[in-house]
Amino acid sequence: MLPAMDFAPAIRRPDDPADADLVVLFAGAALVVADPDAPRLPSRAELGAHVPGDTVHVGRLAGVAVEAAALADGAAVPAGFALEPLRPLHGRLSDAHWALAGRAFQLAEWDRTHRFCGVCGTATERLDAERARACPACGYRAYPRHSPAVIMLVSRGDEILLGRSAHFPPGMHSTLAGFVDPGESAEDAVRREVREEAGIEITEPRWFGSQSWPFPHSLMLGFTAEWASGDIQLDPAELESLGWFTRDALPVLPPPSSIARRLIDGWLGA
Ligand SMILES: [Zn+2]
Repeated sequence: MLPAMDFAPAIRRPDDPADADLVVLFAGAALVVADPDAPRLPSRAELGAHVPGDTVHVGRLAGVAVEAAALADGAAVPAGFALEPLRPLHGRLSDAHWALAGRAFQLAEWDRTHRFCGVCGTATERLDAERARACPACGYRAYPRHSPAVIMLVSRGDEILLGRSAHFPPGMHSTLAGFVDPGESAEDAVRREVREEAGIEITEPRWFGSQSWPFPHSLMLGFTAEWASGDIQLDPAELESLGWFTRDALPVLPPPSSIARRLIDGWLGA
């Protein structure tokens, strides 16, 4: 799904910033990009004084250090750069820069929201040896957040089950998905989500693949399964519509960047 790339994650920030460093700079969930017509991640030299001093080191892309940071609250977007939401930049940024931006966003956002200890309120300190912020008073450590979610393609003969959430773009339907509950296996979560959202039972879920989904910090675990029993029942609290679709009558599908689309394309190619 994401290209193999020459990227090595690292935690400890290099001692000397270099002009060529790539800087992944966020304002909220939007990204500061250079060359708005053909967007790319800017370098430290290009951003100059707009690079915050306290960046989070992400790693090295082809030997070039990658730093992440949030633009200071209220700071203007530097002249000549554009502020663009991350998700629609897929296909416009290079695959390497898009994947890197997702990774950097999760790290910068975690860092920004864990500056104080959740136990005692003391200011935390970033560690060099592991990706964590530690409390010097009580020793509590905060690690980057991951929220595992399952996403599954359910088929029945030559049909697949697709549903539509109210917040989707017009006409778009996708595979069912939901977060894994504490104490639950991914397979249990697949069965529960299908039962809750569609009212049907399925065969044993089969592993498909996974995708980091930095909106804001999910790890999507993809499965396929077949219908076993029951008639679909729409839960209006969960979905706006739900139905079985054949390959020659598919609705608007999710974008190619998503694992949902890969699940569907995998079925279409089968
Ligand atoms: Zn503490």
